[in-house]
Amino acid sequence: MKANITIMPGDGVGPEITREAVKVLQAIETSFGHDFTLEEVLFGGIAIDESGSPYPEETQRSCKNSDAVLLGSVGGPKWSDPNMKVRPEKEGLLEMRAHLGVYANIRPIKTYPQLIENSPIKNRYLDNIDMVFVRELTGGIYFGKKEKTESSASDICEYSKTEIERITRVAANIAQDRRKKITSVDKANVMATSQLWRSTTTELIAEEYTDLELEHIFIDAAAMHLLSRPADFDVILTDNLFGDILTDEAAILTGSIGMLPSACLGENSFGVFEPIHGSAPDIANQGIANPCGAILSAAMLLQYSLNLKEEAQVIEQSVSGVIEDGILTKDLTESSYVSTEEVGTAVMEKILQT
Ligand code: NAD
Repeated sequence: MKANITIMPGDGVGPEITREAVKVLQAIETSFGHDFTLEEVLFGGIAIDESGSPYPEETQRSCKNSDAVLLGSVGGPKWSDPNMKVRPEKEGLLEMRAHLGVYANIRPIKTYPQLIENSPIKNRYLDNIDMVFVRELTGGIYFGKKEKTESSASDICEYSKTEIERITRVAANIAQDRRKKITSVDKANVMATSQLWRSTTTELIAEEYTDLELEHIFIDAAAMHLLSRPADFDVILTDNLFGDILTDEAAILTGSIGMLPSACLGENSFGVFEPIHGSAPDIANQGIANPCGAILSAAMLLQYSLNLKEEAQVIEQSVSGVIEDGILTKDLTESSYVSTEEVGTAVMEKILQT
């Protein structure tokens, strides 16, 4: 298969981990006889330094012309002054997601038996965790009208029925390939947007996805149950704000933020794929960042944007194999650890041996 993939390494550890994910994509290309054209472009703080914009026109063009985008991470202390005219996160990440119309954030959360000791949660709660968050990404309180005076401030939270329906369909389609259960998170006892969220999801699932089970849960209860019974969840559907909070909470179940991938999807198969972590400036340029989140994001890219499910599975199995072999970066082990590059090479070799 031929595909155009835009690569945006970004800032901090972004370039180090993205390099390993690219190595893995190239191993898949070789093993399965595909033809991927990879175009590397500027994005984030580095793009501000070089062009004045975190999402320059050339980068926008490359993204629009590609089948999928692989992103490292953006931001860092150099660009964190809130008074800066443009910032990597707001004018970079948020604008890019809106510009490319990717409104659904997909985050699988899975534990690896070998890494369970790294989790701050008691081991008995961590067996068989395998859930996927589907978070609405381009609406809600982050995108509503904002006002601030000396003495008061407000953020408007707004959702249309159409926005809720389209994200519910994404969750439903994912649930159909899994354990057929959706947990929808809201605060319908106090928020009007949550009431619309609850009635819309209920109606849509009842009409279009009769084989799925839908449960509703308040955000405060969800925060608790995520820690007390995490293995019960399959697909968790949330709005933008609640999803932002819960996905970070769920990430700590797995022991390291460095292991987790994500996808941002829109109407068609196009998507932006990135590890869930940030630019980790505290460990950048030391060769110790965990590249697995980036590598698994490349697997999601193959699965969701290119429909290469077998290839995606080969990457996932290779990452699991490398972890079983004890080839681990510093965040995953207290004893002897290996470099970012060594983990990437080990995954690549497993793929080439498959
Ligand atoms: P972070 O995710 O960068 O780091 C949090 C902690 O996790 C740090 O201790 C870091 O060392 C560790 N960590 C992160 N990735 C790791 C990896 N691959 N391997 C091992 N350890 C890893 O979050 P932060 O420190 O709050 O944010 C740093 C910068 O990243 C900020 O500028 C923030 O705005 C930005 N950010 C960007 C994105 C994105 O690009 N999508 C997401 C979140 C934060």
